[in-house]
Amino acid sequence: MAIDLNMRIKSFKLKLIFSYIFVILLSFGLIAFFLDKNLEENSLHNVQNSLITQAKLIENQIVPEGLKKEDVNYLETLSKTLSLKTKCRITVINIQGKVLADSEKPREEIIHMENHLNRPEVITALSGNIGIDTRYSPTLKIDMLYVALLLTDKNETLGILRLALPLESVQKTLSTTRKTVFLGLFFSLVLAFVLGSIAASRVIKPINRMINASRKFSEGDFSRRIIQPSQDEIGELAATLNKMAQDIENKIKEIRAQNQKLAAIFNSMIEGVIIIDKAGRIVSINQAVEKIFGVVKGDAAGKIFLEVIRNNDIAEVISAILKKGEPVSAELTLIYPVRRIFEVNATPIFDNDTIGGCLLVIHDITEIRRLETMRRDFVANVSHELKTPLTSIKGFVETLLEGALDDKENNRNFLKIIQNHAERLNSLVEDLLSLSYLESKETILNKESLNLRLQLEEVISGFKSQLKKMNVAIKNDLPAGISINADKNRIEQVFTNLIDNAIKFNKEKGSIRVYSREANGKIEVFVEDSGIGIPEKDIPRVFERFYRVDKARSRELGGTGLGLSIVKHIIELHNGSVGVESVEGLGSKFWFTLPSFKAETKPPLNI
Ligand code: ADP
Repeated sequence: MAIDLNMRIKSFKLKLIFSYIFVILLSFGLIAFFLDKNLEENSLHNVQNSLITQAKLIENQIVPEGLKKEDVNYLETLSKTLSLKTKCRITVINIQGKVLADSEKPREEIIHMENHLNRPEVITALSGNIGIDTRYSPTLKIDMLYVALLLTDKNETLGILRLALPLESVQKTLSTTRKTVFLGLFFSLVLAFVLGSIAASRVIKPINRMINASRKFSEGDFSRRIIQPSQDEIGELAATLNKMAQDIENKIKEIRAQNQKLAAIFNSMIEGVIIIDKAGRIVSINQAVEKIFGVVKGDAAGKIFLEVIRNNDIAEVISAILKKGEPVSAELTLIYPVRRIFEVNATPIFDNDTIGGCLLVIHDITEIRRLETMRRDFVANVSHELKTPLTSIKGFVETLLEGALDDKENNRNFLKIIQNHAERLNSLVEDLLSLSYLESKETILNKESLNLRLQLEEVISGFKSQLKKMNVAIKNDLPAGISINADKNRIEQVFTNLIDNAIKFNKEKGSIRVYSREANGKIEVFVEDSGIGIPEKDIPRVFERFYRVDKARSRELGGTGLGLSIVKHIIELHNGSVGVESVEGLGSKFWFTLPSFKAETKPPLNI
């Protein structure tokens, strides 16, 4: 490409030089042609005129008597004498065409000279005019100019006088002129070449600069500008190129910024986006797709969809959209690597009314579906939990109304059962209310400095009769000065629920121990019991709402199945976490962590 350009530049330079040369050649040629023609004609004309004048002068010097008598001696002497003076060849011819005397020939030769009547100048002279002719003389072997006139005496024609002059001098003058012209032409050409080269270089230099700059522009380098060489057309071209470069640079910057924005949006999208071309090949994928399908963007580009992502359902969506060109929506379940549910929305991309590809937006709806299921289960659970005590209450009320009210032995029992169920209903509603309050975003914690040991002590005193009834001993091993910044009522609820469970699910003569550990700015509180424990398979689920290991036992003990989920919510609201360790038949150890008071009140570190 560069070589080609250089050649073109060189040829442009040559073109410029050759055009100079052509103009010079043409003008010189025309000048030389007309000059030569004029010069030749003028010189010939001058020689002719002087020859005619000389012929007329000589005509007067010839004595008619000598001619009449054809006095060869006289004529010969005269012609030779005059020839010396005029430098012309003088020939005297009689009217029959016989040569009588010739200044250039001796008499012996004259006798053998052929008849001159057929000579063009002689023919014209005989007709009474001045005969003129130019021709090659075989005698002298040069071009000669002949002038002939009629010699008369009182209307009597006596003969013909012919003067001849070699045209050598005319030709010499002409050739000298021609030589001068050619020399001039040669120097002009050399000058034209030199000046042409300089002029062409001056023109080409800025053009060259422009070519180099435009080459850089085409390579995407807009850092340089062309120096405006002059105020002429080339200068204007440079200015236009500079403006064009500036415009392109601005446009590229704009497009680049837009692309960066689009790429940022594309990659930060939570939804997976796949762009497919009309051949079913992947054009681009975003980071969400990389994460969902465990693929790498660089490896995916240019490959057939199924080669990269082995999901037939999505592949079918792609082939359907590429065939029909209509948007498709589908819900798909991905089993591998983890079970997830996706909603795929595919839109065709049109390229001049033909399908040029499609855009897939993959939305992970696993969480939405999970929450939907949870909500459904929750409603079902709540209904079920409410239904049981309500059915019992309704049944016993009906029994009482149907006559059992008068049954002195059982009516109190029936009322006691109704009271129990009403209490269960009450605690269920209370738990549901506190759970829904804790789950709502507006929950406000009234945090205050709290001594955990004293708080626990308060809770334990409320359980005195229950502990006695179950014959369970409890030990508060929390340190005396243990303080946290928390909502007093909520922490009380945590302790209440945990201690309640530890008593409920304990054994006869069982024990409970509450103690703590402080580490990494956290206080870890343990509620350990020697109760029935939790089977291993149930441990991960005990904090779920309504989850109970033994439903019947829990209900019998007045449990709602919501106690632990309330604990979890309260602790998480305080930026802590909960957990349990348990061995079936041996006991359980529930724990929760809270940020320690010291850690919370510490000023932030200046890093
Ligand atoms: P409940 O109202 O039934 O006590 P919770 O949410 O408080 O509901 O507890 C859920 C379930 O976890 C209980 O039904 C019980 O099976 C189990 N559980 C809780 N605490 C203990 C414990 N200390 N020992 C054994 N099992 C327990």
